[in-house]
Amino acid sequence: MNGLEYLDRIAAVFAKLPGIGRRSAERMAYRLAWEPNGMMRELGEVLREAQENVRLCSRCGSITTVAEMPCRLCVNPARDNALVCVVQDPSDIVALERTGAYKGRYHALMGIISPMHGEGPGDIRLQALLKRVETEGFQEVVMALGTDVESEATANYIAELLKNKNVRITRLASGIPVGSGVGYSDATTLSRALKNRQTL
Ligand SMILES: [Zn+2]
Repeated sequence: MNGLEYLDRIAAVFAKLPGIGRRSAERMAYRLAWEPNGMMRELGEVLREAQENVRLCSRCGSITTVAEMPCRLCVNPARDNALVCVVQDPSDIVALERTGAYKGRYHALMGIISPMHGEGPGDIRLQALLKRVETEGFQEVVMALGTDVESEATANYIAELLKNKNVRITRLASGIPVGSGVGYSDATTLSRALKNRQTL
């Protein structure tokens, strides 16, 4: 490969990340070429180390390491096992933890039902949720999904799925900006939405 081909390969990876267009990805890759022994080396080292260690929790889907599997949130005996909070992705767990207002367990769906993008119920972690509800003794499932149409539809689908499972199903109170997930809400808004959650 010549120099530009290396950078184009890097840019192609960056362009897969959310919010990064092809042009920005190229600029980032070309900028790395300025410092092959600085930024490029650092990025290479941290990515390799992270790749070896960082994983998603096999139980809840939060970000953890190979050494902590299941994650701290799943094994911490001080957390409330009566509650499980359903979120779209691991960044939402980070946002909810930042509020300090929630002490239950989590379940990240790793997506949302989105017929427009070809994502059906089988493409997100719904069966894993069902199994956890059946075996882990939760009393309440708190939906902390976004307020856009697809998130609402997903929440309703889950409510239907869990209808006869003897769990209370609630959702965060309104206040989360329309069209955004919980990951974009500030801590105060989230705490309030948690406290005032409503039965679905
Ligand atoms: Zn976990």
